[in-house]
Amino acid sequence: MPKDFLKDAKDHYDVVVIGSGLGGLTSANILARQGYSVLLLEHHYQLGGMATWFKRAGGHIFDISLHGFPIGMIKSCRKYWTQDIADSIVQLKGIRFENPQFSVRTTFDRKDFTQILTDQFKVEPEQIHAFFDKARGMNFYDDQTTTTRQLFEEFFPGRDDVVRLLMEPITYANGSTLEDPAITYGIVFSNFMSKGVYTFEGGTDALVGKMKEEMLRNGVDLRIRTLVEKIEVGPDQKVKAVVVNGRRIGCNAVVSNANLKSTILKLTGEEHFSQDYLNEANNVRLNSSSCQVYMALKPGETFDDSVGDLLFHSEHRGFDIDEPADDGLCEGCLVGEMVKERALGDMRAVDDPLDGRAGVSGPGDGLPFGLLADQAHGERIGGGGRPERLPSWSRSSRIAPEKRSGPKRGPRDSEKRMR
Ligand SMILES: Cc1cc2nc3c(=O)[nH]c(=O)nc-3n(C[C@H](O)[C@H](O)[C@H](O)COP(=O)(O)OP(=O)(O)OC[C@H]3O[C@@H](n4cnc5c(N)ncnc54)[C@H](O)[C@@H]3O)c2cc1C
Repeated sequence: MPKDFLKDAKDHYDVVVIGSGLGGLTSANILARQGYSVLLLEHHYQLGGMATWFKRAGGHIFDISLHGFPIGMIKSCRKYWTQDIADSIVQLKGIRFENPQFSVRTTFDRKDFTQILTDQFKVEPEQIHAFFDKARGMNFYDDQTTTTRQLFEEFFPGRDDVVRLLMEPITYANGSTLEDPAITYGIVFSNFMSKGVYTFEGGTDALVGKMKEEMLRNGVDLRIRTLVEKIEVGPDQKVKAVVVNGRRIGCNAVVSNANLKSTILKLTGEEHFSQDYLNEANNVRLNSSSCQVYMALKPGETFDDSVGDLLFHSEHRGFDIDEPADDGLCEGCLVGEMVKERALGDMRAVDDPLDGRAGVSGPGDGLPFGLLADQAHGERIGGGGRPERLPSWSRSSRIAPEKRSGPKRGPRDSEKRMR
């Protein structure tokens, strides 16, 4: 008999939340706190969605995402979660850029960037202030015709190096390009520039663990390994139920954390939406934005402080994220995320399974992309025991496959074409 992951679930809830990404978890928690009966259904075997981690033999934890975000997360966590979660957020102060054009170390905030742009890049302070003010004033509902390239041309014409400093981390963070609307850049950049880069002390697994405890305190009915197959809508166009693992569960409302296209086109069905709405939905571009390389150190090895917390590194001599590299090398930015607490505190040994060698991941090798793929299929991956935590190295890049330089990067190259 297969295990019933919906054992003892009720036949009706006020709200069903589909998916336990950060959005689904937060929705479920807020609604339960307001007194609604909430059922949270997650396809995967663990909560968190892309905010995830995986384990390997020996209990080593590989933390996949949530290495850097703006200070606003502290307020959000206090408001929607707990003071304890908010208190676990700490600043990363050693942000570094190393590339053929410049070497910079920064706290990644407006004050420090202004100083660097003035002293090192010799840009006029008025120009810098005007740029920061323009980016700061952007809103999601603003004009979307101006591209990021045009924004940079307006303020820093012909300054490829300045564009690289300003753009590289944001391309890494959200996959946006110079041809995307300037707001996709300006809003994210300004959020970081307000007070720098922050992370969760303890890692994503600790964060999601605390969220789980809080949801249980608030009465959320949490179910993993449960795949929602259908959202049932009545003739009055109101949601009636979901079908999950073959069972129908009634509800008054659904919050879907599954992706927009799946929710509209597959789970609900086109017949329930206007043609205009469907056109908009069909135009949404789903984006995956990074792959990762994991490094492991032999027992006893550590990094010293000079390494920094977050390293943006590229050996490409110029910066053009839209063109494939012309020298056979990979273009894009190699980003090392070295959260100090992880790198210095916990990162000690990986003699098993990597024999102390650096681990490089790629689709199908069972490491990060293996995880993401496995995540979609709800399969369990390795694990057990209390863990050492390893930092990740992420590559955010746009690489034409034919331009890859396999041998230079090793046989298990983790490069991935973006978009
Ligand atoms: C490698 C990587 C690095 C990142 N680094 C950072 C970072 O440094 N800082 C930062 O702020 N963000 C980072 N992010 C982004 C961040 O992790 C995501 O934006 C965030 O976790 C997405 O949350 P979400 O609510 O959109 O849901 P998602 O994470 O997309 O979760 C959706 C959930 O819904 C579930 N689901 C889907 N369909 C169904 C169904 N039919 N039935 C049941 N369940 C279903 C899925 O299994 C999944 O768990 C990173 C992401 C990745 C992949």
